[in-house]
This record gives sequence, structure tokens and C-alpha cells, in this order.
Amino acid sequence: MGKLLFSGGTIVTSDGSFRADVLVEDEKIVSVGTDLFPDGAEVVDASGKLVMPGFIDGHTHMDMPFGGTVTADDWATGTEAAVAGGTTTIVDFSLQDVEGTLAEAIEEWEKKAEGRAVTDYGFHVAITNLTEEIKAEIPSLVQKGVSSVKIFMAYKGTPLYTEDEDLFEAMQIAREAGILVMVHAENGDVIAKLTGQALARDETAPCFHALTRPPEVEAEATGRAIRLAQVANTPLLVVHVSCAAALEEVHRAHERGQTVYAETCPQYFAFSYADLAREGFEGAKYVCSPPLRDEWNREPLWNGMRVGDLQIFGSDHCSFNYRGQKELGIDDFSRIPNGLPGAEERAMTLWTLGVNEGRISEGQFVALLSTNQAKIHGMYPRKGTLVPGADADIVLWDPELETTATVENRHGNVDYTPYEGMIFEGGPAAVYVRGKLAYSDGEVVAERGSGRFVERKFISPSMRSVMV
Ligand SMILES: [Zn+2]
Repeated sequence: MGKLLFSGGTIVTSDGSFRADVLVEDEKIVSVGTDLFPDGAEVVDASGKLVMPGFIDGHTHMDMPFGGTVTADDWATGTEAAVAGGTTTIVDFSLQDVEGTLAEAIEEWEKKAEGRAVTDYGFHVAITNLTEEIKAEIPSLVQKGVSSVKIFMAYKGTPLYTEDEDLFEAMQIAREAGILVMVHAENGDVIAKLTGQALARDETAPCFHALTRPPEVEAEATGRAIRLAQVANTPLLVVHVSCAAALEEVHRAHERGQTVYAETCPQYFAFSYADLAREGFEGAKYVCSPPLRDEWNREPLWNGMRVGDLQIFGSDHCSFNYRGQKELGIDDFSRIPNGLPGAEERAMTLWTLGVNEGRISEGQFVALLSTNQAKIHGMYPRKGTLVPGADADIVLWDPELETTATVENRHGNVDYTPYEGMIFEGGPAAVYVRGKLAYSDGEVVAERGSGRFVERKFISPSMRSVMV
């Protein structure tokens, strides 16, 4: 593949920004320094651009069955959307079949990814049926390069829902095995009760999705999961923190010195409850869990990023078409498939609303999208940083690039975009995956199937090392 020299750009890492060149040979970074000599390398002019480590999205759902349908994006279109947003590695949730093993879940997901992915990828395993056999199987994930499991406290009445005693035992097993436990923290019992009561009153519109899952049910489950992890003496990752009340629980855990990582997502900054309450059935386009919240929750969440209570920013990309999929819930909000596309918009949203508005720094942007993702998801320093020996996953970020999102210029396979009409200021001009150009100037140029599986190993980073 030869050599590439990224010349004249400004490198942005989680520790700071500086002028330097990056020399890449084959798939790796070989040196970072000022005025590097090309020595036969092809020179890439990075002047005027910010040179960043490829973004990592630790939270996607590609080609995933949910509520009697399957996500609109498969591994080709889903990773194409991701790379068009500067993402070079995703970690996706392989879903255990209720009757199946965890190993079979991974095999199934490998089949979905193979020949399609244009980004590198890893898998979490989402546990749906925690039998004695499955408990015994958890430690074997480590040898497969899978360093995390996800457990759902929500979705009562479906196989995803997990009782506290099983959640707790999984935490104990994970601790012994060196596996990170991730939780979807919403109180499934209370949501099931409120949903039944709403439907009995004929409250069927999309906005009732949020009204039956208020912030308190997220906060309660977040606090409970954190306390269970404290008893099990294990690190925990709370995914998709959507509101101030849940964040408070995370903050309290940090005050007492507990290792609790937490993620938030672009939809909680770009949208709010008002979108869910749009006229007619439009709100269905904005149904995800936890639901969109009132706008006032955003400032506390930005603050959570600044002080390090929230260390990662994942997309929770889980796309469904409006026609034929979201429409499944036209008479009953509880049948609307949960999820929004966002892999493509994740970084541009964080830059536009965060860095451009002075809410977070460039370094925090890189930490939230890349460096902390690599640390928490067990890929550091192979991914998430620009140092000799790391994979040459590189984003040339153009802070002047202006894009207006429309369904036509999206790279995924969804018949709408919740971001329609939104103007992003700043975006990726070019994206390289392991030294190879994957996206340039609006076009995905990577070959389908060029993405590779990344073996991950969880070595619990200290809270200090993921605070910027
Ligand atoms: Zn998710």
C-alpha cells in the first residue's frame, strides 16, 4: 500500500493541538513530527485541516431484529453512513438468540459484517436469556476478542428484560472474567405498567412513548445498576444517558470514587420532546429509548461532558424506515420500532453544537468520539490516538465545511432523516481507515468488506484517565 505523508495540518488529540505531520506506512502510523521528509511517500495536503484519530462509535445496531422487523441499515449502508461522519471503527451489539449461545450470536454477527463493513468493527454481546449455561459461557468471550456484555433493565415482556438478580450475577461473573458490563438503564416494570395504563385510556400517539418513560424511571434504574455494580465491585458503563436526573446518579457515584463510565448521544442534543409531540404521526420518526427529553436537560449534559461525568458520545444508530416500519405503531405508540439513525451525524452534531458554541474544547471532542471510546471499549492505543504503532485511522476535519442534512445526501439506507434541514458547520473532508482512503468529499470510496474485526481487551481505565 505504500507510504502517505499528511503534511501541514494541525493535529488534535485529547491532550491538545499542535502543528505536525503524520507519516503512514501500510496500515500503521510510523511517525508524528514537524517537517517530516516524504522519503518517497505520497503527500496529502492537510493544510487548513485538523488531523484527528478516526472516530470510534461504541454503540450501533446494524442489521438487528427488533419488534418484528429489522433495522433499515445493514452492515454496508450502516458503516458507509458511519465513515461519512468520520467514524473508522464501530462496536455493534450482537444479539443473543433466546435459544442460542453467546458464541452463536458472535458468529451470526460476523456473517452480517463480513463482505459488507467499510469500517473496522468489534462486537458487544447483548444478553437476552441468562441461563446457567450462558453464565458459564460469559468468561469465554475474552478469547474471542469480545470484551463487553450488555444487559437490559427495560423492555419488560420481551426476552431483553433482565431481573436484578441476573444482572447482579452477570456483574460478578464479568468482574472475574475482565469483561465490561453495559446497561440499558430504565425501569422496565414501571414502563410496562404506565404503557398499559396509557393504552387503556386510548393514549396511542407517539408522544406517549416519552410520557410513559419519564426521566425518573431512567434515573431510578441508573442508580440501581450503579449500586449493584458497587456491591459486585465491578466497573460499569451506563449507555445513552438522556437526562439530568440520570446524570445526577452517575455524578454521585463519581463523588464516592466508583468506576462508572457513561455515554450520551447526539439525539439528546439535536432533538427534544417537542419533536416527539409533532403533528400527526411525525413524532414516530423521533421514537427512541430512553426518549427525547425537555430541552433544559441539555445544559446539565454538556456540563457532564466538561467535568468528565460523561466520557463517551455514541450514536445508538438504530435506523428504521418511516414507511412500513415506524408505521407499525400508527395505532399504538408501543409498537413503533425504537431507534434513530445518527452514525453519520454524531461528530458533526457534537462539533456544531459543542465546539462551535464554546461548550467543549477540540480536545474534549476527540476524547468523547475517539480516545475515551478506545480506552473504555478495549482498543487503546491501537485505536483512538495518533502515535507511532497505532492503526492509521485518520480524519481530516474541515472546520469550515458546511453541510445541510437532507434525506438525499445521507449515506445510510433510511427513507427519512430526523436531521432534515439541520446545518452542520464543520465535518470530515477525508477519512482514512488503516491508511486507506475510505471517504472523500461527500463520497464513500471504501470497498465493501474492507473493514476488519478488532479484537478488544478490557483493561478498566481509571476515571482520571478518561477525564479531559
Ligand atoms: Zn442502543
